[in-house]
Amino acid sequence: MAALGLVRGSSGNVSVRRGDILLITPSGIPYERIHASQVVAIDLEGRPISGGGVPSSEWRMHVSIYRARGDVRAIVHTHSPAGTAAAAVLPALPVPNDEGTLIFGEVVPVSRHAPPGTWDLAQAVVEALGEKGKAALIARHGTVAVGRTLVEALLLAEKLEEVATVFFFSKTEAR
Ligand code: 13P
Ligand code: ZN
Repeated sequence: MAALGLVRGSSGNVSVRRGDILLITPSGIPYERIHASQVVAIDLEGRPISGGGVPSSEWRMHVSIYRARGDVRAIVHTHSPAGTAAAAVLPALPVPNDEGTLIFGEVVPVSRHAPPGTWDLAQAVVEALGEKGKAALIARHGTVAVGRTLVEALLLAEKLEEVATVFFFSKTEAR
């Protein structure tokens, strides 16, 4: 995520589901400093399974998505700039390019606003993703992409940032 420019410092978070266990990034540690031993295991209620680390402050969003979507096995949450800008100013992101619509359909939803780290944000994101959504924008906050694997979720997060970037460029008036 950091190498792709989708996050800076410790913003965003990642999880993967194995059975009824989630492995989730620790809270507040910059990605270049995270060691495997600091990844936190929690159950689908958010209870710690191993290690004394502090799970991402967005663990409620991660467990809520897995509980709602049996097809999802990995989640990537970013604060990527174009996606976050779209999430700040648009009611939904119209997908401006054919490659984007093949992946996301005509529109990427924006969740209703809720404070970071809350059950309310978790519920808002679950609603925005719906039964089949691959990605959503989190109002005034960032992006979330879901997949069957970490690689799939990461590629979707990257494509979402591309779609949002193309959308804003397409708003520049031709002269
Ligand atoms: P964490 O470091 O706790 O995962 O928080 C980052 C973030 O993106 C909060 O929304
Ligand atoms: Zn965030």
